[in-house]
Amino acid sequence: MTAAAVRPGDVAEVAVIGAGVMGLAIAYNLAARGQKRILVLDAHHLAWGASGRNGGGVRQQWSTEMNIRLMQESTEICAHFAEEMRINVWMRRGGYLFLARTQAAADRMARNVTLQNQCDLPTRLITPADARELVPELEVSPFVAACYNPTDAVVFPWPFVWGYARAAAKRGVQIRTGLPVTAIERRGDDFALATPAGPILAGRVVCASGAWSPAVARLAGGALPDRPVRHEILSTEPLKPFLKPMVSDVETGLYVSQSLRGELVGGVSLPEEPNPERQVRLGSRLAFLTRMARGLVALMPRLGSVKVVRQWAGPYDVSPDGNPIVGELAGVPGFYVVCGFGGHGFMMAPVVARHYAAFLRGEPPHPFFEAWRAARFTDGTAPPGGEREDLIIG
Ligand SMILES: Cc1cc2nc3c(=O)[nH]c(=O)nc-3n(C[C@H](O)[C@H](O)[C@H](O)COP(=O)(O)OP(=O)(O)OC[C@H]3O[C@@H](n4cnc5c(N)ncnc54)[C@H](O)[C@@H]3O)c2cc1C
Repeated sequence: MTAAAVRPGDVAEVAVIGAGVMGLAIAYNLAARGQKRILVLDAHHLAWGASGRNGGGVRQQWSTEMNIRLMQESTEICAHFAEEMRINVWMRRGGYLFLARTQAAADRMARNVTLQNQCDLPTRLITPADARELVPELEVSPFVAACYNPTDAVVFPWPFVWGYARAAAKRGVQIRTGLPVTAIERRGDDFALATPAGPILAGRVVCASGAWSPAVARLAGGALPDRPVRHEILSTEPLKPFLKPMVSDVETGLYVSQSLRGELVGGVSLPEEPNPERQVRLGSRLAFLTRMARGLVALMPRLGSVKVVRQWAGPYDVSPDGNPIVGELAGVPGFYVVCGFGGHGFMMAPVVARHYAAFLRGEPPHPFFEAWRAARFTDGTAPPGGEREDLIIG
């Protein structure tokens, strides 16, 4: 990953700050479209950020047409990723089963299912009893409705990161890990990125630094309104396969799936910590373990004696309206951002990166560049395009 074409002091045509799934996927797609001299820099190792800490959920059930269609495209990319990148991503299409406790949530679900069906997604609005047919272990008495799309999926996130990294490197992208960008200055038409190994010049910069994007944007003299929110997640011992869909309670935010390897993997939201400094901390808390264990056993009482083997945390990168933030940052020409993806940036990275790279190569921008532009927070146009996504978990 450290071949020699770009060295400190050299000029990269595009420098990507952040080797998470988003930065690597953009670098890969750029290289595949003929972009030369791409450098990806990361302060840590591959999969250190949220891209290595997430639940691997890939769903097409959304409440806006743009998100549904984007995720249909992204799911297709995911479905062919293993074959194209020659790496096993442990993808399992067992569907997503959402559960609603209140009539208000059930009404939203019904609206979303209608829209999803109009987009040719085979989602069904079902009764709690139907949900129990799908997952006999469920305690469905707290729920009034459910919806199920059998074509949603779960993947193992790490091989996506490695797969994009390897394919990008094969196309000449330089990936330098353990190299933080500590300052960003203008030097003529270029940016000078300060690193412990010396300055690196770059014609254009893509800030794909996840929850650290506001800090990186500040280095360049820009401002971003997203903020980190710590989310925790756990994994149990492997169990005999029994749980086909990812199950999610839309009101508590609890979600759980069974990986191809047999472990149950899931999380639940805790109230946000009042001190914003603590949100970027990645430590695990007993409060999470307790809430998750209680929630999981209430949802599936038979899990009472299952052993939890690991818990960890990662940052959601949350924008003020829950939608991502993309495009060239106001006041910093040549500095492009791609952040604010909350709890769904992993699944969106394949499709967002494809269209982002096309845009950087001069092709017409996908409509998400308009809907998710950073300026919506300052020019009074939020929520973007009049559409606000309401199926955000956590
Ligand atoms: C617990 C949890 C569960 C989740 N579940 C899901 C899910 O089921 N499905 C889904 O789609 N999404 C999920 N997400 C969200 C998803 O993980 C993120 O949206 C996605 O991984 C963001 O990718 P990224 O590449 O933008 O950021 P990251 O993977 O966080 O990468 C950013 C990188 O930037 C680097 N960086 C930061 N500052 C600097 C600097 N100054 N110099 C150099 N490098 C720097 C960091 O080291 C890091 O590697 C979950 C997130 C969490 C925390």
